[in-house]
Amino acid sequence: MATFTTACPLDCPDTCSLAVTVEDGRLTAVDAAPGNPLTAGYICHKVKHHARRVYGPERIMTPLVRTGPKGSGAFRQASWDEAIELVAARIGDALRDDGPASVLPYLYSSSAAVLASQALTPLLFARLGVPEVAHTICAATAGQAWDDTFGGMLSTDPLDVPTSRLVVVWGANPTVSNTHLLPLLTEAKRNGARLVVIDPRRTGVAHRADLHLAVRPGTDVVLAYAVARLLEERGAVDEQFCAAHASGVEEYLAAAREWPVARAADVCGVAATDIEELAELVTSVRPALLRIGWGPERNRNGGSSCRAILGLWVLSGHFGQQGSGIIASLGGGSTLCAERVPLGPVPDVAGTVNMNRVGAILCGEEPGAAPARVLFIQGANPAATAPDQRTMLRGLSREDVFTVVHEQVMTDTARHADVVLPATTHFEADDVADSYGSFVVQPVRAVIDRVGESRTNDEVAAALAVRLGLGGEEFDPDPARLLARVSTGAVEGVEVLRQPGETVQFVDTFPSFPDRRARLHVPDGELPLPRFRPLESRYPLTLISPATAKTINSMFGEFAPPPAVVSIHPDDAAPRGLVDNATVRVWNDQASIELPCSLDASMRPGVCAIPKGLWLRSLPAGLTANGFAPATISDLAGGACFNDARVDVAPSCESETAP
Ligand code: SF4
Repeated sequence: MATFTTACPLDCPDTCSLAVTVEDGRLTAVDAAPGNPLTAGYICHKVKHHARRVYGPERIMTPLVRTGPKGSGAFRQASWDEAIELVAARIGDALRDDGPASVLPYLYSSSAAVLASQALTPLLFARLGVPEVAHTICAATAGQAWDDTFGGMLSTDPLDVPTSRLVVVWGANPTVSNTHLLPLLTEAKRNGARLVVIDPRRTGVAHRADLHLAVRPGTDVVLAYAVARLLEERGAVDEQFCAAHASGVEEYLAAAREWPVARAADVCGVAATDIEELAELVTSVRPALLRIGWGPERNRNGGSSCRAILGLWVLSGHFGQQGSGIIASLGGGSTLCAERVPLGPVPDVAGTVNMNRVGAILCGEEPGAAPARVLFIQGANPAATAPDQRTMLRGLSREDVFTVVHEQVMTDTARHADVVLPATTHFEADDVADSYGSFVVQPVRAVIDRVGESRTNDEVAAALAVRLGLGGEEFDPDPARLLARVSTGAVEGVEVLRQPGETVQFVDTFPSFPDRRARLHVPDGELPLPRFRPLESRYPLTLISPATAKTINSMFGEFAPPPAVVSIHPDDAAPRGLVDNATVRVWNDQASIELPCSLDASMRPGVCAIPKGLWLRSLPAGLTANGFAPATISDLAGGACFNDARVDVAPSCESETAP
């Protein structure tokens, strides 16, 4: 028995350092490793039990070739040689007969480290000249809002939270993701800080808050503007800071003046007195820190909401000292970022495809899009995770689209593949991880024997490259060679890139624009100013799909799915005759699902929830909450609008006939 240190690269801000116990080449235990200033001490429950995925019955052990109808899960085993030959031949045929746009590389690998997500697979498809499928399903809108406002300015360091006197957690739920923020919030409170949480649900962290605003989903832009207007009315705009460090302030304030507090309270569904209290706290308490999450982006007003929230912090000048600033993604802090991709010069890709439109493209329903012939999916489970789920499932079921899925376990998406390729987990391959929740870089190590015939993403790309005539040293998948190219030096252990107090915004890090000013108005941008688009629907309830502690997106849904229930406030349940645990029907024009209901006073009235992370098999209808999510995209960067789902709920025997 031996214990090794590695890192958790799953799609979670924390990027824990892991102590992995191994016996006879098999993983037997996972726990926190020392040395990581954010994550030492504990890890989450799901990764403690990661062995259930590594050695689970769903693990794909060999390449598989489809033998039954798509989606049936009927496959035969194949050798790697046969599988690679088949996949390469179909890609080659599509390129020759239908052109590069007929090949769609749906690469997400968000739960992968640097090499697995960004080395040879993207390089392969760039070399082939096929379109890039842009990662719009998550974080694109919030990321663009940050880039529009601050460019490459770094996030504030979460380790500075204990020095703050006001922390506003806006659209984030560290109770279930980013869990290592919680002790820092506790310490800040112990030091006298006030905590404000803005979230449609009374989450675990909202329970601890001094002020909770259960904002109606999609109206965060209005709330931010209303607070901005109050700041102006009270003479609390930080004129000195704005004059020195911001542009577009007058345009932003002019838009904010449209939102007097009473009107905003009505639209946002919160008390006017709570908006005023938030404005008072933002005005009077320093240093003040904003932790903005990804909740505000998941709707038609997502870009506007994120931009307005960031702009509010600029107006109030909450920068310039430890304990102030904004915590967003810390991804820009890694020295790996500037150097890791591309590994060599690549041609311009043949355009970009919005990931949220892939289902429509597969179905031939996207105006102007070329017909798809090959879909190559790696590190993604769009059957379960894509919005407008029924369209995605129709696309995945098409017999005339050859679908390849490189995966660890037999996901809903893998079941729709023509060829399934077994993938390594991050315990089986060397890599390096940076983090979007801490300024830490650390090695990911192959600590156990490979399971089955699994191969890394780079090994698959290399094999396809050779078969497609692109081989050579460039596609050598040796991790030591690749790691030497993505890192300025060997990453031997936990490397802390920045110490607490070293990343004070507008002191140590500035907006990366030539004038180093934050931009509240972007006249030449996709979204010049934040704006509110109304939310009317003939369906009365907003359906959200919040993350839970059970899964990372849909990962682990095969053995530990969250409860497949719809949570609804008692005030919405009573007039509908809904009782706790009764089977209900949730429906809109797109989908209909029967499932148990949970009367939950932590929901805000008018909002119900089905958890994120469920698999198709979790519900008898073979759909998840994403079956209700519209095909529309957000107002910035083409983001998914999961929280624009509008539904009604009724006892199962009384509801309308739905599609
Ligand atoms: S999923 Fe997040 S909290 Fe859990 S071990 Fe990985 S990094 Fe840590």
